[in-house]
Amino acid sequence: MSAGDIKETLKLFGLTPNKALGQNFLADREVAARIARAACLPNLPALEIGPGLGALTGMLLGSAARVAAVELDGAMVGALNGMFAGEERLTLIHADFLKFDLEGYAGREGEYTVAGNLPYYVTTPVCMKLLSCSVLPARMALMVQKEAAARFTAKTGTKIYGPLAALARLYYECETLMELSPARFYPQPEVDSAALVFVRKSDSPTVPSLAGLLGTAFAMRRKTLSNNLRAAGFGREEAQEVLLRLGIPQDARAEQLAPEVFAALAREIG
Ligand code: SAM
Repeated sequence: MSAGDIKETLKLFGLTPNKALGQNFLADREVAARIARAACLPNLPALEIGPGLGALTGMLLGSAARVAAVELDGAMVGALNGMFAGEERLTLIHADFLKFDLEGYAGREGEYTVAGNLPYYVTTPVCMKLLSCSVLPARMALMVQKEAAARFTAKTGTKIYGPLAALARLYYECETLMELSPARFYPQPEVDSAALVFVRKSDSPTVPSLAGLLGTAFAMRRKTLSNNLRAAGFGREEAQEVLLRLGIPQDARAEQLAPEVFAALAREIG
């Protein structure tokens, strides 16, 4: 869709972009095609987050076996129903992705991929939900705010290293597909954007309790891991012992520990 197409579609359905819902629509067909190609595998279903007016949805239908698209704005769902009437491979779900039954979807599909030009105001909770699902997406292509992109690939020991980077780096090869200026969207956002591609590592099985542990470990960044564990209910000796067993220094802080160390710790304490 071009910016002109978007304006016409909005007019046709009597819609106005809702800033609070992060509605900055992608106004570049080639970018949409590249994101769809990066996200999809031909035999797998794709899950789209925030289809909006369908700029990406149409491209995903061209690259995936079928598409399920979760959209919070009922007016957008109404427009999409009109635009994609008769498209049996598309399932539109009117829901807040943060409340969507991702475990149910992932369990039913078994293998799936994810794509989305994300609403930037919920980037972190959306991505934490994806990265802590018990059946992880095989691939993901996600548009995020450029500054947020760095948090997925952040190195251990840096200020922006946290649960997102630990999960993303443990489970995925992650790289920037492209960076985009506000001019590629309508209406134009006030920030630059980046599309990230995540490819699932085959040698890194999911650790069910990892996301919870990371939440605990990074709860207070300036405290030691041991103190954060104790604040979450561990006894002093219990915390000391488990760190000792894993060769983690007693005074270590979460940001100093590599993703693999957290995975080992999560396996140890369940
Ligand atoms: N995919 C379209 C595109 O690229 O043009 C729209 C992208 S726009 C940046 C983000 C979309 O996510 C909007 O349609 C917005 O209504 C929707 N959205 C916002 N919050 C949401 C949420 N919590 N769950 C699902 N969709 C949401």
